[in-house]
Amino acid sequence: MSMRHYDCKNYINLDCEKGMCAVSKGFVPIDGEGSQACPQFKQAEKCGNCKNFINSDKYGVGTCTGLEKENWAYATCGAFACRGYAAK
Ligand code: SF4
Repeated sequence: MSMRHYDCKNYINLDCEKGMCAVSKGFVPIDGEGSQACPQFKQAEKCGNCKNFINSDKYGVGTCTGLEKENWAYATCGAFACRGYAAK
C-alpha cells in the first residue's frame, strides 16, 4: 500500500478534503489524485502502527492493549499524545 500525505507526520488537517504540508506549506489532498506521499514522508503516530494495536478487522477497527484496560480503537486514530503508543 502506498503511503499518503494523510499518514504523514507533516500533514496538518484543514477540512474533509485537504490538508497542508508543514514542509512545503502547500495544500495536499486527503485522497484521490495527488494524495501519494513524497520522499520526505515521516510516518505519523496512529493506533494502526502501534505495537499495542491488534486484531484489526477489514474496517480498521481493532483492539488497543497498551493502556490499563483493553478497548476497541480505530487504526486511523491519531496517537501522538498517547502514553501507551509504541511504534512498530
Ligand atoms: S508526504 Fe511530503 S508533501 Fe506530503 S505531508 Fe509529508 S512531507 Fe509533506
